[in-house]
Amino acid sequence: MNNSETASSRVDGADSGRQIAAAWGYALALLCAGVALAVTESLRNPLFPTPLFFAAIVITTWYGGSIPGVIAIVLATFSLNYYFISPVGSLALNKPEIFYLFEFAFPALLTCWFVTKRRVAETTLREARDELQLRIEKRQAELARVSRMLTVGEMGVSIAHEVNQPLMAVVLNGDACLHWLDANPPNLNEARTAVGRIIEEGTRAGAIVRRIRALAKTSPQRVVLDLNQLASEVEALLGREITRNHVVLRTDFAKNLPAVRGDRVQLQQVIVNLAMNAIEAMSEREQGRRELSIRSELLGPDGVSIVVEDSGPGLPAGNPDDLFNAFFTTKQDGLGIGLSISRTIIEAHGGRLWARNSPKGAIFQFQLPIYEGSA
Ligand code: ADP
Repeated sequence: MNNSETASSRVDGADSGRQIAAAWGYALALLCAGVALAVTESLRNPLFPTPLFFAAIVITTWYGGSIPGVIAIVLATFSLNYYFISPVGSLALNKPEIFYLFEFAFPALLTCWFVTKRRVAETTLREARDELQLRIEKRQAELARVSRMLTVGEMGVSIAHEVNQPLMAVVLNGDACLHWLDANPPNLNEARTAVGRIIEEGTRAGAIVRRIRALAKTSPQRVVLDLNQLASEVEALLGREITRNHVVLRTDFAKNLPAVRGDRVQLQQVIVNLAMNAIEAMSEREQGRRELSIRSELLGPDGVSIVVEDSGPGLPAGNPDDLFNAFFTTKQDGLGIGLSISRTIIEAHGGRLWARNSPKGAIFQFQLPIYEGSA
């Protein structure tokens, strides 16, 4: 079927729809007037014969439209004249009856007009509401699409960020390995250590990718963890960065720290992020001691906490909470996503992550609830 045929069949459809509506209106006028007549007749000499005819006119106009409404008025007027006004059984009129019928027909016409107006206003209102609803639904669908795109984009940025650190370490260790192999005589011990680190970092990158993939499908793997052990593993992971940036690392782990429940890789990623930020902040400083402190603390019944403190320049001016907004960065090639991901991870574990200045530099601290099953 071509376009013009489709259009003409649509017009035909609309025409037949209009004809059905008109037929229904006329039938309704007949039916309502008939019912009004039958009921009023059955009352035998009612004091006021008009109310049911009025009701018939209102119903016909509302459901059938103005023309069926006028037809109902004509039918009602004739019925009143024929059945209820003397001489009964005749359409003949003399003066007082004409006035009586006019008294009925004029307000009936007015009512028909009001009902039509009301009907049009209601239809317009309903159409406007439907259109608004349609627009809102369209807008919501658009918003959902944009937010899906943003999520996908954010996920891409976060993968890039999280995998970047181990990959850089792999490259640095690869360089170091070549250097030791090129030495005369080759320093095989150092080369072996560098290869060991490459394997370690590669494994870590693999674990991150696996976790990110798993994150898209399942919930994080929650296991019972000792934060002290987790933090000391991070110490090993950051060893190279610490040496390269001439940073002194101090650790102070609280004894008998209660366990927490969480995802090992995600929580480790948070500590690595905080420590890497601290190292980067301190390496901006030419002079002064570069001291990174990682501590664990028991915060009473509230939970356990890890504190990462540095001796860098301190937090940028403004509200410390802004640092946790996605894409906030003061670094030239920063992504501004690390702290936002870290906070999301900690909050997903039922904890809090916050930042403040200290007399030495900056403090980033997170708190996690104690695992209830622990001693
Ligand atoms: P990025 O490191 O890519 O900039 P982050 O979300 O990790 O992204 O950090 C956001 C910003 O928070 C940094 O650009 C920096 O301004 C500030 N910041 C983070 N850690 C520290 C710190 N230890 N000392 C001072 N400022 C920090």
